[in-house]
Amino acid sequence: MPELPEVEIARRTLERWLGRSQVTRAEAERTRVFRGGGRGAFARLRGRLARAERHGKVLLVSLDSGQGFLSHLGMTGKWVRRPAGEAVPHSRARLVLADGTVVHYRDPRLFGRIEPHPAERLRSLPVVRSLGPDPLLTPLSGRALRDALGRTRAPIKVALMDQRRLAGLGNIHAIEALWRARLHPARPARDLELPEWNRLATAIRRGLAFALSAEEGEEIAYVEEPGTENPFRVYARTGEPCPRCGTRIELRRQGGRRTDFCPRCQPARRRKG
Ligand SMILES: [Zn+2]
Repeated sequence: MPELPEVEIARRTLERWLGRSQVTRAEAERTRVFRGGGRGAFARLRGRLARAERHGKVLLVSLDSGQGFLSHLGMTGKWVRRPAGEAVPHSRARLVLADGTVVHYRDPRLFGRIEPHPAERLRSLPVVRSLGPDPLLTPLSGRALRDALGRTRAPIKVALMDQRRLAGLGNIHAIEALWRARLHPARPARDLELPEWNRLATAIRRGLAFALSAEEGEEIAYVEEPGTENPFRVYARTGEPCPRCGTRIELRRQGGRRTDFCPRCQPARRRKG
């Protein structure tokens, strides 16, 4: 499932593909990817790339024609580029480029969405304005992270995934960050102390940098896909030894999602001293 690093890779690839050529035609299938409407507006997209931006898991693409669109990849969405004429399974929308390639939006499960809007309006859309700070656009100190997350009684794992508080982290990167920071996932966010917020800020930065460096090639791969290796330290590694201390990784359910964690490195109570 896409989180900040995968969406950032998608942003970079769209920037490269649409920056080198121009959109001469666009096509949109009748699917719930366009559930807010906008198939007609998508099909009218033309021109060169002006900007490809990202905030959290939301992509904002602006063309020099003044047209633009928002793209959210949902669970299985991807932007891929293929030679013209090549059939692409689950292609839901297409940007046909002057260079003879086609940029497809593929989405087998259709949880993603595309919304065309005038480019100048993209950044002020409510869905964008409601997002918390993005840890790649605004590198976060421990204090800034405490300001964003520290006022809730919610478990820190749940707070980390709340896009209105902090934009971009999903289940995988919340799990990885808490393990790196040695914090128990069920600790109430408001009970964390500044040294712990500092560790968490560093952990988020390192986890995102690692994930961005691990992405190879032009197309993103999701860890849930068959044949994809799990590059993560503790995510989906319940029962395996903790890479730091060797204790067996345990599993909890939080808000209907899995949380893998090390019961030794991530104690339920704060260590004294
Ligand atoms: Zn451990």
